[in-house]
Amino acid sequence: MTDWKKRLQDGRRVWYGGELVTRIAEHHAFRGTVQTIEKLLNMQTGAWKRELTHEGAHLSFLVPASLEDLRRKEKAYKIWADATFGMMSRLSEYSREIETGWYANRKALGAVIPHFEAKIERIYRNSRDRDLLSTVAAQDLQRNRSRSNVEVDAGQLRVVKKTEEGVIVRGAKTVATAAPYVDELIITSFHKRSEAQRALANVFIIPANLPGVHIVCRESFASDDAVHDPLSALYDEMDAVLIFEDALIPWDLVLVAEDPDAAWKLHTDPVAVALSQHQTVVRLISKLQSVAAIAYGLAKSADVTGFLHVRNELANLIMQVETIEALLRTAQHTGERHNGVFIPNRLYLGTARNLGARYYAEGIAAIHQIGASGLLQTPASLEELEVHPEWREYFAASEGFNSTKRTLLNKLAWDFVGSSLGARHALYERFYSGDPVRNFANYYNQHPRQQAYMEFATSILREENR
Ligand SMILES: Cc1cc2nc3c(=O)[nH]c(=O)nc-3n(C[C@H](O)[C@H](O)[C@H](O)COP(=O)(O)OP(=O)(O)OC[C@H]3O[C@@H](n4cnc5c(N)ncnc54)[C@H](O)[C@@H]3O)c2cc1C
Repeated sequence: MTDWKKRLQDGRRVWYGGELVTRIAEHHAFRGTVQTIEKLLNMQTGAWKRELTHEGAHLSFLVPASLEDLRRKEKAYKIWADATFGMMSRLSEYSREIETGWYANRKALGAVIPHFEAKIERIYRNSRDRDLLSTVAAQDLQRNRSRSNVEVDAGQLRVVKKTEEGVIVRGAKTVATAAPYVDELIITSFHKRSEAQRALANVFIIPANLPGVHIVCRESFASDDAVHDPLSALYDEMDAVLIFEDALIPWDLVLVAEDPDAAWKLHTDPVAVALSQHQTVVRLISKLQSVAAIAYGLAKSADVTGFLHVRNELANLIMQVETIEALLRTAQHTGERHNGVFIPNRLYLGTARNLGARYYAEGIAAIHQIGASGLLQTPASLEELEVHPEWREYFAASEGFNSTKRTLLNKLAWDFVGSSLGARHALYERFYSGDPVRNFANYYNQHPRQQAYMEFATSILREENR
């Protein structure tokens, strides 16, 4: 048993179906995913040790000094993402990279945030040396978005008291994907807080079992049937709301308390943003490759690749993968040294991330278009194939897809696009990195070549150019 699995019983308060779950690894909502994470962690000590780790910890804890370091990180992310169809989006590398980024840039951040340098150094070393898993929760509960940037709402996580030992906080944060499985929770603030909202402007990194912290899970999409639901059986990473009931956060773990500028500085820190987005773009490639592969298999098995629009759909999916790969490569090769850390270019990572929100939706639509009713042309189990010799023939398809292979492919495709887990992923890819509407608008607002486009547009109007 891994150390991690033992740590799942550290007293963290995971709520599911009205119960406090004490034996997470045995509970039906979590056990398949626990198996998956354990398998991935075992890869770190087995055959993949060199590719996945640096000095005993996962490569997401490495502070990159060169392009080569970034490529090593990329490889480590890709190995885990490929092992899970890109479905386990929050296997900690993302949030670990936020912590690594803050640590790597600690001197610059420490110059403006009191005590930051010493605190992040201690926290990072503890997380790295113990190879801890983490997640991040940044959003307020969805209650009153029109006022949530000017007022303090009773649901928002806020400081209610400062004591000698630390800050006492009350309220909630969301969405904490993977929270039941992780050791540490990074609590930060997604939006810039106003002066009137100082109580909300906090950043801390806490153990998941801190007294007063409750992990309230959504309905599980896990299945016990790995044949029928190959993805849901193994990869429901779970999403949760974190509720803080007057939890005392010791000062050592409080990076920012009631300071809107400092909280925003951490949320937008260029090193943490670049390193964490680097991971999300690598993971996106695995996911889009899975979509393309499934669509390709469906098209071949139904023998529809001769139709022009099907080729168009497949070409589009392949171009998506090529585009994101090219953006990743460009981001790495145009990376820069920032306070001694080699970080990928955020412009191209941002482009990839924004495109990903649209690409995934297109990918799901392509699987619907190509798969059509074939997605449901499957018996409930493989046993039906044995009922009558002819039935094997009926459920077989083109290109060497015998009845078993075809049934398994269609079930995989349906789990991707039609199951509860599949629907959750469509929502995830659209929103995980923020609201796509505002992300696109921010991209426009912050694009470095805005002025050049404007000058070009106005130059057309100049008399000498007419
Ligand atoms: C499956 C899933 C997993 C996630 N995992 C994580 C995680 O692990 N950690 C984490 O921190 N976050 C996570 N997120 C949350 C993610 O950060 C948010 O979904 C995202 O920031 C958008 O916020 P929201 O969902 O509260 O939408 P809202 O902000 O409530 O938006 C709802 C609607 O109102 C519109 N709207 C709201 N406010 C405005 C405004 N000011 N201007 C214009 N339009 C507005 C939006 O466009 C949208 O149409 C996850 C989300 C999902 C769906």
